[in-house]
Amino acid sequence: MRVIIIGAQGGGMTAAAKLKRNLPSAEIIVFDSGEYVSFGACGLPYYIGNFFSNEGNLFARTVEELEESGLKVFIKHKVISVDEKSQTLVVKNLTNSQKHTEKYDKLIIATGALPRDIELCNNTNTFTVKKFEDAKSIKAKLATNKVKSVSVLGAGYIGLELLEAFKNIASIEEINIIDFKHNIASNILDDEFEEALEKELKKHNINIYLKTHVENINNSGEGVEITAHNGNHEHFTIKSDILIVSKGFIPNTHFLDNIPFKKLPNGAILVDSEGKTNIENIYAIGDCASVYHKIIKQDVYIPLATVANKMGRVVADSIANMPSKFVGALGSSCLKMLDCEIGKTGITEFEAKKYKIPYNKTFIQDYNHTNYYPNNAKLYMKILSDPTTNKIIGAQILGKNNTLLRIHALSVAIETGLTVEELGMLDFAYAPPFTRTWEALNILGNVATPKHKKK
Ligand SMILES: Cc1cc2nc3c(=O)[nH]c(=O)nc-3n(C[C@H](O)[C@H](O)[C@H](O)COP(=O)(O)OP(=O)(O)OC[C@H]3O[C@@H](n4cnc5c(N)ncnc54)[C@H](O)[C@@H]3O)c2cc1C
Repeated sequence: MRVIIIGAQGGGMTAAAKLKRNLPSAEIIVFDSGEYVSFGACGLPYYIGNFFSNEGNLFARTVEELEESGLKVFIKHKVISVDEKSQTLVVKNLTNSQKHTEKYDKLIIATGALPRDIELCNNTNTFTVKKFEDAKSIKAKLATNKVKSVSVLGAGYIGLELLEAFKNIASIEEINIIDFKHNIASNILDDEFEEALEKELKKHNINIYLKTHVENINNSGEGVEITAHNGNHEHFTIKSDILIVSKGFIPNTHFLDNIPFKKLPNGAILVDSEGKTNIENIYAIGDCASVYHKIIKQDVYIPLATVANKMGRVVADSIANMPSKFVGALGSSCLKMLDCEIGKTGITEFEAKKYKIPYNKTFIQDYNHTNYYPNNAKLYMKILSDPTTNKIIGAQILGKNNTLLRIHALSVAIETGLTVEELGMLDFAYAPPFTRTWEALNILGNVATPKHKKK
């Protein structure tokens, strides 16, 4: 069997490695237009912020290591078109510009996503953070010690992680975070957390520009000048030495527009629980594909490494006729914003409203552990439950000092259909350095239990 994989990062390489183990005799060919394989983009903010210097830590495997395991890997090879009828594709060797045609029995599309508004970035004073090269360009700029101010456009996962990175750079005196929404981390946390988030940003002297609609970005000079308005006809400018555009991602599927794939409105290729598309012998995984959300009960877009890797495994099993299904995601995700840990699993209230899912909600403030043990810190949690069954359907958390890890318990709770009253009495472990006698998760469950159910 001849399997071709387009894309040699998290999704593609997980599939390639598992498939080689499943079917040692299969010919597995991987093409990637970039210059590297098995790259962990998740580490980029910490690389930029000099949390580590060995860039090799960002790469799980080299091309040579992959080839030793029997895979055929071609970097700097861009797939420019696919013909699903003849089961062929055209590849361009980016080193010598020569094109050739390859035939496949099975094709796996793992082409990831592209940053929104990438055309704004000139890599001189305006950058995005997606590829290794992006981080290299930013680091080279920071190394001049001339960057005194930074604006970050987009208060989502990557934008917020970068704040910690820039705080770690000695030359940077001013950081601006800009978003058109009214709240920080709006994909993860509902409004109840906003005060604590803004307090954290202010503590670190980050300038917050919310409800800020960018009209123009002038990055032609030495620095960058953003012209914006706040919705009240008040216009203003934000100036900085560099700008990072982190406005989210769109699936990288446009070069396949000739194929009648079923897609989500944003272009993500629709796949089933085995990663199969509606076109025979073509699979899709990772940031270019849809994923089924267990609570929303629809196919949605969740561009995360966690999903990409799991889908890679499932597709490899499916091609090898080994029973394996990805039964869906909960949209579990987390990040660290300066000293704050933020996470969610299941749906937020914003998503419940968007998808018209009935819910009860509870928000609590508590502490991570006993008040007499060092590093006692506030933690905030919110839970959404089904008003009929009381089963947990969503949870959010904001805290410090590894508080975030409680989100794993909440993912398991949702996955197993736990009710809020069951959470209230669940037997969590306790010792003063870790929790309080009544663990905050118990308190969350008890407060969320409807009054008529309370004994
Ligand atoms: C800064 C940053 C931080 C992140 N942090 C986290 C995190 O903490 N947790 C988390 O779960 N996720 C995180 N993510 C998301 C995670 O990195 C992605 O979900 C994951 O990389 C998706 O893997 P993928 O294989 O689908 O796509 P990608 O990693 O995007 O790889 C796609 C590959 O396809 C290649 N390609 C595209 N088109 C072609 C073509 N036509 N021909 C040949 N090759 C092609 C590209 O060159 C690329 O190498 C982060 C992402 C970024 C950018």
